[in-house]
Amino acid sequence: MKYKGRFGDYGGFYVPEVLIPALEELEKAFYRFYKDKGFVNELSQLMADYAGRPTPLYHAKRLSEYVGFNVYLKREDLLHGGAHKVNNTLGQGLLAKYMGKTKLIAETGAGQHGLATAMIGALFGMETKIFMGAIDIERQSVNVHKMKLCGAQVISVKGGTSTLKDAINDALRYWTANVNDTFYLFGTAAGPHPYPTIVKHFQSCIGKETRRQCLHKLGRLPDMVLACVGGGSNAIGMFSGFLNDKKVRLIGIEAGGRSLSSGRHAASISAGKPGILHGAKAYLLQNAEGQVNDTESVSAGLDYPSVGPEHCYLSDIGRATYVAVEDKDVLDTFELMCKTEGILPALESTHAIAYIVSQKGKLPAKTIAVVNLSGRGDKDVGIVEKFRPVKD
Ligand SMILES: *Cc1c(COP(=O)(O)O)cnc(C)c1O
Repeated sequence: MKYKGRFGDYGGFYVPEVLIPALEELEKAFYRFYKDKGFVNELSQLMADYAGRPTPLYHAKRLSEYVGFNVYLKREDLLHGGAHKVNNTLGQGLLAKYMGKTKLIAETGAGQHGLATAMIGALFGMETKIFMGAIDIERQSVNVHKMKLCGAQVISVKGGTSTLKDAINDALRYWTANVNDTFYLFGTAAGPHPYPTIVKHFQSCIGKETRRQCLHKLGRLPDMVLACVGGGSNAIGMFSGFLNDKKVRLIGIEAGGRSLSSGRHAASISAGKPGILHGAKAYLLQNAEGQVNDTESVSAGLDYPSVGPEHCYLSDIGRATYVAVEDKDVLDTFELMCKTEGILPALESTHAIAYIVSQKGKLPAKTIAVVNLSGRGDKDVGIVEKFRPVKD
């Protein structure tokens, strides 16, 4: 088991003994059901009618004119819940149902994954508990309220820094004591095996659809595909469609926060070193003693000190490139997107668009770049207003 779920040297299974049976049961169930005809049919029906798949591939003409090459946006922002997260919560929620579990638990930072889990708990009639840091509960009161409206219980976590990484620790602890009836619905392509593999599978619809849409609409594959990277789920979902197309460049964009030199950021691959957090080996933001650093980003969804193991591997072998974009460029790009396309992108997704904007005038006009627009920015309007008040 120790060597399962490895991407090169990354990933694996660094958990207390008591959790191993639960993860083994999950792995077994995943491989039993993920190709099962009944499961696949039920999931694709829900993906279509509940979530809103397939999502469009949109040619952003005015943005393209501005940067001097072709930019297409994969519109995951149009999904139910406003982000790609529902792909994963629907998939894992249905897996929980097929496993005969009656209760769901999940961790959340900004509340987006908590809300996406609460929605699915309501959909399947499952009792749902969301673990959330006490500080995040204060900062994200609207999402907390929405989770409660969907019938979920929000559990305040007070240990450590009272944020996402402490919520994950508490959720894992709770799961250990309640594995019989409880499914832990993990929010990103990180954590111990089998989560990186499971989350990638349920997010791979993004890349599959995008590849098909490119061939159908443009008659060829794109030159580059871009996505923001927090834990790495929307990015690995998108990249997975193009991993074997060696000519398609894969670019992941991390949260550069105030700047890499300030130390106040969340750019795990760009500035981290290999270490172990939440059951997996991956690039980790840590100090010289191996203590996990506090992170900072204008976008709560990217504010995580580690990253999924497959991204670490793709970076090491040079198949994908990871770059960091700073908060101020993200805020500029948010304004640009609103003005040129009438689209309010999530600040997470805006990181990927900001990188595109940084390439203005530097790429041949026939270049085709596809950006995964992982979510909509309605949730971020208050934050943007704080940094950039709208002028009359
Ligand atoms: C949660 C979130 C992210 C970051 O998560 P990944 O697992 O890295 O995809 C990115 N974009 C949006 C809109 C989110 O809600």
